[in-house]
Amino acid sequence: MTVAQTIRFPDGATVPALGQGTWRMGERGDRQAEAAALRLGLDLGMTVIDTAEMYGEGGAEEVVAEAIAGRRDEVFLVSKVYPHNASRSKLPRALEASLKRLGVERLDLYLLHWRGSVPLAETAEAMERVVAQGKIARWGASNLDVADLEELGPALPACATDQVLWNLEERGVEFDLLPFCEGLGMPVMAYSPVGQGGSLLTRPALKAIAGRHGATPAQVALAFVLRRPGVIAIPKASRPEHVRANAAARDLLLTGQDLAELDAAFPPPRRKQPLAIL
Ligand code: NAP
Repeated sequence: MTVAQTIRFPDGATVPALGQGTWRMGERGDRQAEAAALRLGLDLGMTVIDTAEMYGEGGAEEVVAEAIAGRRDEVFLVSKVYPHNASRSKLPRALEASLKRLGVERLDLYLLHWRGSVPLAETAEAMERVVAQGKIARWGASNLDVADLEELGPALPACATDQVLWNLEERGVEFDLLPFCEGLGMPVMAYSPVGQGGSLLTRPALKAIAGRHGATPAQVALAFVLRRPGVIAIPKASRPEHVRANAAARDLLLTGQDLAELDAAFPPPRRKQPLAIL
């Protein structure tokens, strides 16, 4: 059985809950291998691809272009604009550059990468203009806390998602941001869901649960975020074995006992915490 199915945006678009990230692609690694990993992910149904003009300073978008060549229609393509490019005058140019590197005419979702000095209302207006021009299907944000989302005011209903850090080691968003977005019917994108492959995956509690399921710690970490309705997880994997393992995590059903043990080892927040950002 597959735990994570599809996630619905308020405008009716639906996407699989498990997608793929691309940070650190298009840098010093083997670009062809990275593109092949993304293609394998597409074959396995992980059709949301998340990238950004920042990643490899355009290099990751070029890797994505190679991965999706000839299969644009299968992909829900997400990119992000630098805060310093998120103004009325600069956003359209940054978008054009992303579209060119990606080899596409339109993005499915364009995000403000994090909040900078450009007023949110100005970015929202610039986003609406490129929606009207057909260059993006919808827009959203990343690394915005509840107060920032509220500041969007009348633009908030058009904001399609907030992409935030969420994994077992960084659970602060469970206190307020996830319920807030759920209340709006706004999907949340969870970044770094396997803790960037770091110390999270060595934690004994995760290993014990993984052992019981014949799974890996990364699969348990992914299953934890995927079980929450309205969340799209975007693990990044350059190695084919990681891509396959991530796809298989959709079939991992955590039990009540597993969840209690995870709560004991990674306590959920009891009060508001400032939004954690990488
Ligand atoms: P992540 O997906 O949690 O971790 C990626 C690392 O974990 C890579 O080193 C990868 O190795 C490894 N890995 C992946 N699957 C694994 C598995 N099944 N078993 C063991 N190791 C595994 O971290 P992330 O890249 O920071 O976050 C995911 C994506 O979210 C990014 O790529 C990016 O698209 C997005 N993101 C957004 C923001 C933002 O500010 N909006 C910030 C951070 C990330 P290999 O690559 O060697 O396979």
